[in-house]
Amino acid sequence: MRHDGGDTVKQESTRGASRRPADVTVTPFGTLPDGRPVQRFMLRNGDITLEAIELGAIITTLMTPDRRGERDDIVLGFDTLDGYLGASPYFGAVIGRFANRIARGRFVLDGVQYQLARNEGENHLHGGLRGFDKVLWSGEAVTENGEPGVTFTYVSEDGEEGYPGRLDAAVTYLLTPAGELRVRYRARCDRSTIINLTQHSYFNLAASASDVLGHMLTIHASRYTPIDAGLIPTGELRPVDGTPFDFRAPTAIGARITLRDDQLAVAGGYDHNFVVDRGSSRDLILAARVAEPASGRTLEVRTTQPGLQFYSGNFLDGSIMGKDSRRYAHRSGFCLETQHFPDSPNQPGFPSVVLRPAVDYAEETVFVFGVE
Ligand code: BGC
Repeated sequence: MRHDGGDTVKQESTRGASRRPADVTVTPFGTLPDGRPVQRFMLRNGDITLEAIELGAIITTLMTPDRRGERDDIVLGFDTLDGYLGASPYFGAVIGRFANRIARGRFVLDGVQYQLARNEGENHLHGGLRGFDKVLWSGEAVTENGEPGVTFTYVSEDGEEGYPGRLDAAVTYLLTPAGELRVRYRARCDRSTIINLTQHSYFNLAASASDVLGHMLTIHASRYTPIDAGLIPTGELRPVDGTPFDFRAPTAIGARITLRDDQLAVAGGYDHNFVVDRGSSRDLILAARVAEPASGRTLEVRTTQPGLQFYSGNFLDGSIMGKDSRRYAHRSGFCLETQHFPDSPNQPGFPSVVLRPAVDYAEETVFVFGVE
């Protein structure tokens, strides 16, 4: 909990760069224009270090070893708070209340029509003008079985960005000795609403600012949701067979990205939701794996979610100056955003995104870092 001297003893003990047994360090990461301080939480477990800040619950740094044991930072971002307050393409942030797009920012719930902020042409993208990526969360160091973590909480008031109901949201990042980053999402509402939270880290397993086209990607999805010119799903679940969207066997991200294909053309590359092959299971299952040949780094994504947005960093164009004054080249990062399908509120055939009062929203995604 933040503010007015109401901090718990546990929270107090994390202030001022103190070191907790589970290796969580808290340091200041700048101040918002309105004067509120932003804390940075640094978690370390074995060879892996994660840094995350209270603004947007953003993961700013993720250090993992390559096959020679050299640790380097494999996520895109900025050195200072200013970068994240500027025109960041959601680097490392938690996205909410609704990840991805809602057509015309409009949906009907229980017979009532709601109009959300339209912040991408006529559509709603990633929670609106001031989505969860742009708000100040309240961080608290946590441990689970002695492993280091941080929980960020945020209360989104009724009507924020047009969404119905108050939403109490919590996101926990936990590092385990198995080289896992466990990301847990929890939320409750006081009135029926919609929700779709995700994590928007851009990875480059070579720890470089050059393109990720040589990364080998596997996605366990037999179908994907094709999109229209506004990147809104048409409602079809299209088989990937015989298309550049078939990643069921390891394939370089760049192997087919320039092929003549209507769906690649409309998005300028990959920017599509894949339907994870999971049957009726709601357990954590393996949705994707990435291997970077030169460094040997690997990344596995396990999730409870039905969908996975694979975004190949098409809008990166060298104009953003990131960490260490490096310019992020075209397609120099990829995102694997576990989620419910885009525009679900307007697609009766897609899994429901409705959250009812007294029901716990609970999803989990595990990123597993390794080498080969
Ligand atoms: C979207 C892209 C968008 C990117 C960053 C992704 O989740 O699918 O279309 O450009 O986020 O804004």
